[in-house]
Amino acid sequence: MAYDPNNIFAKILRGEAPCTKVYEDEFALAFYDIHPDAPVHVLVVPKGQYASFDDFAGFAPAEMVKGFFVAVRRVAAQLGLTENGYRIISNHGPHANQVVHHFHVHILGGRPLGGLVAP
Ligand code: AMP
Repeated sequence: MAYDPNNIFAKILRGEAPCTKVYEDEFALAFYDIHPDAPVHVLVVPKGQYASFDDFAGFAPAEMVKGFFVAVRRVAAQLGLTENGYRIISNHGPHANQVVHHFHVHILGGRPLGGLVAP
């Protein structure tokens, strides 16, 4: 899928839309999801134009891929989730119900999340 620079996460990255920021470095920005599915629900987005995980993992430079996932780990630690655990999810494409077409990882935690089940 072609990247649309007018998606909401691109606007947040450009400072054109608000977010509640949790973390930022040269590779990634993390902010709270507006419709949380767990006591802690944070989104981490890369600072680059990648439409989904498939696009990011396939085409981003190795330094960016590493920097991004190190940032995800840091965000989880900053949120105090490392010891008890957390879940990371990334939706790619229609069967996964990807809604925002800028690659992002959901970090979910703050309670036992149960098994991963498809509805
Ligand atoms: P998905 O693309 O299916 O992985 O889901 C996109 C996620 O982005 C959903 O959990 C939304 O609640 C969240 N979301 C959409 N717009 C915003 C926004 N402006 N700020 C924070 N989270 C958002």
